[in-house]
Amino acid sequence: LNNLGRYKQMGVLGQGTFGVVIRAVDPEANPPQEVAIKLLPRGDFVKNFKTYVQREILHQSSLKHPFIVCLKEVFLTPTHLAIAMEYAQGGDLFKYVLRHAPNCRLPETQARWIFQQLAIGLDYCHRRGVANRDLKLENLLLDRDGSDGTRPLLKICDFGYSQGKHELNSSAKTGVGTPIYMAPEIIYGGNRYDAKKADIWSCGIILYAMLYGRYPFNAKERDYARKIVTAAYVLPQDVEVSDLCKDLMTRVLVADPDKRLSMEEIRAHPWFLHQLPEGA
Ligand code: ADP
Ligand code: MG
Ligand code: MG
Repeated sequence: LNNLGRYKQMGVLGQGTFGVVIRAVDPEANPPQEVAIKLLPRGDFVKNFKTYVQREILHQSSLKHPFIVCLKEVFLTPTHLAIAMEYAQGGDLFKYVLRHAPNCRLPETQARWIFQQLAIGLDYCHRRGVANRDLKLENLLLDRDGSDGTRPLLKICDFGYSQGKHELNSSAKTGVGTPIYMAPEIIYGGNRYDAKKADIWSCGIILYAMLYGRYPFNAKERDYARKIVTAAYVLPQDVEVSDLCKDLMTRVLVADPDKRLSMEEIRAHPWFLHQLPEGA
């Protein structure tokens, strides 16, 4: 329904906060190439430029890494701003975990494979001075669905809340991101928090969710904010997880950002070092 220039529209991939993401084909690429196109209504994009569009485009286009969705082209249609990016065929990790019925959780080796890629991709972002600030299962994509038994590659996407090198935590007054993934220091309300350390907390929530098929904190509970701030979560007894894995996870999900494992420490942890993906 949109005029997307040379791109041929194939279907809807997801409905985001600010617009829709569609699947399209670039017939002029050789061979023709599938892409994902995020469409933001023109009026909204002017209004949200500073807070959202600028981050999404500027930050993501500066990041070139196998574990980060590659931004291909940004263009205007008569009605929308369009961001064309690498298409991740496997969809997002939230849906991937849901497909693992009946418990919606991943075997530890698979969770590790995904966590390793997440940490390596995020470490690259952080070294380039970019924090994502919206890491969650829905914003981690997979290059294939893995149903053939091969291991999918992870692609971090959605840099709409990201923070660059010279930026202050301007939007931290209310805190950005999704409550169940939000670090204690953000809930606490300080706007001087280190966004990179908050990203690492979110990685801990993601690891927990992959392993246990549930979140450590439940946003429906009345006192969940207090539970996050004091890191009052439990490791379910009914799921078998190795001691090494629990060791890493509980050192990442630490309320005090200064006592939380750093990216270097995560990457040196014995659980993490086991069967690292190639090229890591
Ligand atoms: P929002 O900022 O509105 O959350 P996202 O960029 O996270 O938008 O995209 C919303 C959803 O669309 C994702 O959770 C995912 O399911 C799907 N999606 C986004 N980009 C791609 C892509 N490159 N390939 C495949 N699916 C995608
Ligand atoms: Mg998103
Ligand atoms: Mg977003």
